[in-house]
Parts: sequence; structure tokens; C-alpha cells
Amino acid sequence: MAATISEAEIRQVVSQVLNRIQTTPATSWDSTQYGGRKLIGIYEDMNEAIKAAETGYRAIRSMSVEERERIITEIRKRTREEAPIMAELGVAETGMGRVDHKRAKHLLVADKTPGTEDVVSAAKTGDNGLTLVEMAPFGVVGAITPSTNPSETVICNSIGMIAAGNGVVFNPHPNAIASSNYAVDLVNRACKAAGGPDVLVCSMKKPTMESAAIMQSHPSVRLLVCTGGPGVVRAVLSSGKKAIGAGAGNPPVIVDDTADIAKAGKDIIDGCTFDNNLPCIAEKEVFAFRNIADELISVMLRNGAYQINANQAKQLADVVLVSKTDKNGKTKMTVSRDCVGRDADVLLSKIGINVSKDIRCIICETDFDHPFVQEELMMPILPIVRVDSIDQAIELACKAEHGNRHTAHMHSKNIDHLSRFAKAVETTIFVKNAPSYAGIGFGGEGHTTFTIAGPTGEGITSARSFTRQRRCVMADSFRII
Ligand code: NAD
Repeated sequence: MAATISEAEIRQVVSQVLNRIQTTPATSWDSTQYGGRKLIGIYEDMNEAIKAAETGYRAIRSMSVEERERIITEIRKRTREEAPIMAELGVAETGMGRVDHKRAKHLLVADKTPGTEDVVSAAKTGDNGLTLVEMAPFGVVGAITPSTNPSETVICNSIGMIAAGNGVVFNPHPNAIASSNYAVDLVNRACKAAGGPDVLVCSMKKPTMESAAIMQSHPSVRLLVCTGGPGVVRAVLSSGKKAIGAGAGNPPVIVDDTADIAKAGKDIIDGCTFDNNLPCIAEKEVFAFRNIADELISVMLRNGAYQINANQAKQLADVVLVSKTDKNGKTKMTVSRDCVGRDADVLLSKIGINVSKDIRCIICETDFDHPFVQEELMMPILPIVRVDSIDQAIELACKAEHGNRHTAHMHSKNIDHLSRFAKAVETTIFVKNAPSYAGIGFGGEGHTTFTIAGPTGEGITSARSFTRQRRCVMADSFRII
């Protein structure tokens, strides 16, 4: 009988987490145990982790699809039950995001990540007989995960990769290691409870660039899946292995003068503030037609936004962006890690503005060149640029997206405008007249993922993305007509 966690136990662990929020600095999180329970599948050595994931993979190879689906069902169940713990833990460990939104993200992963039904075979018959094409596992998948959606990505990746028949080794973001390893342990507990191997997904006690390098070059790791910023995506794409890269975005929103402005203003604030703007799909800058901009701003102000002036925007930019010199001696602006994913009132307090917790978004009018438009802030700060025409709106929005081809949004009832922007921006996700999260199945149709693979083209990844095609040919027979 599968061991499940009771509500009383969940409450006890949540209260332990809350105690730790006050007492534990982020750097000293223990990535090998939680509430005194040793986490399953956590290794000190990457080679050992890969070996364990390979053993797990061999064990599920001999299981039926139905048995594999039982593991997935158990992962979904435990994710729903333990979503409150993972939400608290994620915010406590990283200092980023909002507990209620992180809980919603875990429930979304549990409910809308496709399982084994996503892996389908194809058959071709003709004069020369029957050919089957099946979607086979790669074996061991090596996955790199971000700090912004840590346990959500580990669980979402695990469901898809296990549904496809793989074992997994994770090299999670070092700043979110306790949250990521909690999720690894959850997947292994679910796997064992559903009759699978003791360890199917593995992670590191202390992930480093070196452990990532071992993972990338290890012969047993046949597929790399990387969710993160441009640096890490570049690293895995140059590994010489088959790699799926899910990289950075900077999603623009266009609002034209045919839009339902009351809905557009609310939708944009809802999307932009979801988990304090951590999702890579969240609205990052607005291009509003000049004749509706005032109305749009007043709707936003009624929906939890606080407007700052140009001077205050400059002060805030000096706080949330820092200059960093890379290894080639080149200096560039980058976001301050102390500000990413923080609440709007906390960011405002850094420039001496005190507002209530009801304020969830900071808005400001800027020109196109402002760093708030150009940088992927991942904070609830939303610059608004006034535009005079759809041509100008599309041109500037495409430039602000920086060719990431990740996500873009538009509020309009003009079909020509919608079609023109969608074609010009070429993003993996294009959301019309809804908050950004509709694009990952939250209030919109379609499955969810936290690994949106624009650069390598898999798009909204799911189990089938983690398979390789194999063909079996029976020449001249097995037709039934
Ligand atoms: P990050 O780029 O700082 O880190 C991602 C992971 O890569 C971490 O595990 C990190 O330790 C590791 N890493 C970094 N450089 C590496 C290298 N050269 N070799 C090996 N590993 C390396 O990402 P983050 O700050 O946690 O996440 C935010 C970024 O990720 C944003 O740019 C966001 O848009 C993007 N993101 C994209 C998606 C998507 O689905 N496309 C999803 C979430 C986040």
C-alpha cells in the first residue's frame, strides 16, 4: 500500500519550513534531508547519480506502459498533496515568488502535464507491407533546471521523461537545491509506492558547473534538456549531444485601440504579477496605442498597480540592475539577484516608497531604450511605451523580444493586427486577449510545461519531446486489406 502524507503531517512540515524562513540563511539549506527525512536519489558524485539513474531506467524498461502510467498517477497525487510544502519551501529557499502562485503552479503541473498517452506510435501500410514507427526512450536524460520554477520544473520534466520511459539525472540550480531535491525525492517516493524502482530520478547534493560538465560528457547520458538563461542553453547546445534548449524570453504585449481595455489592463497585471513575474512567459513590457494608454493605465491602477515617475524609475533601475564584467572583461547590465521575483512593495521600499501589500505591480511610462524594456527583469515592474500605429508597435515589440522567439501577447479585436504581430514576432507562444499564463494551459486550452523549447524547436515540451523514433519494417506482408 502506498504511503501518503496526512494533512496533519503536511501542516507540521509547513510549520517547520516557516520556522526555517526566520532562522536559516539561503546558503545553508540542507539538500539531502527534509524535516529529518533523508531524501531519496541525492548523490555527492555525478557519476554515481548517473549510474543510479541508469539502473532505474533499466528497471522501468521491463515495465509495461500501464505500470509506468501508475507511477505518473502517483507523482500527480503526491504533487497535489505536497504542493503547499513545495510552495513554501520554494519561496523560503530562493526568496523569490509568491506562495499562493507557486502552489497553483504545482497543481497545474500535476493536472496538465501529459503522461504516457502523449507517446503514440505510427503505422504505414502499402504495397510493400507494414512499417511501424515507435517513440522510444533515450535512456538517461540529463536535465538542468532553473531557480525560478525549481520544483515545478523537476516534477514536470520527470513526468514527461518517465512517461517516455527514461531515467533522469538533474543538475539543479544551486540557489534552489533544497526545493529541487525535495521534488526529486517526491518522484522517487511515488515511483517506489507505485511498484517501480527505488530510484528513478537523481540529483546532486551540491550541483556545480563541474557536475554539469560531467553530466554533459558522460556516455550514458543520451539527451540533455536545459531550462535556464542564455549562458547555460549555449553550453548544452555546444556539448555535441542531442540537446533540448529552453532559454530566456522578454515577452512584449501590444494593446491597440480595438481592445477591451478594462479586460486588457486586468489581464496584463494578473499575468505580469503571477509568481512575481518569474515565469519566462510573463508580460515584461507593454506597447500601448497612444489614444488608449491613459485609460489602460487607470485600469491597471485599479487592479493593484502603482505608478512611478521617470525619476523614480531611474532610481529603481539603479537598484534592480547591476553592472557585471564577464570573463572577457566586457561589462554589461544584469538583474540584481536580490531583486528578482520580489514583491512590488519590497522593491518600492528600496527607493523609499512605502505602500501596502495590496500593491502587486510597479508601472511606469518609459521610452523604448529604457533598461526596463530591454532587460528581462523577472520582477513585477512593467514599463509602458506609447506608440502611434500598429506598424510602430510591431516593430518595437519585435525588437524588445530580442529574437528569442519565446513568447508575445496582444490585446486587440482587429484580426489583421493580431495576425500581423503573430507572424512578425515568430514566438513559440502567442497569447491573444488573456493573461500570459493562458499560454501554458492555466485558463487556456492545451497541456502545460515549464520547459518551453524555442531555440531547439520542441516548443511546449511533453513526453514525446523526450523520445527517439525507431522504425520496424515488415516487407510485403501484414496488411489486412
Ligand atoms: P540560470 O541561467 O541562472 O540557471 C539555469 C541553470 O543553469 C542552473 O542550474 C545553473 O546552475 C546552470 N548553469 C548556468 N550556467 C551554466 C553553464 N555554463 N553550464 C552548466 N550549467 C550552467 O537561470 P535562472 O536564473 O534560474 O532562470 C532564469 C532564466 O531561465 C531566465 O532567463 C528565464 O527566461 C529562463 N527560463 C526559461 C524557461 C523556458 O522554458 N524557456 C523556463 C524557466 C526559465
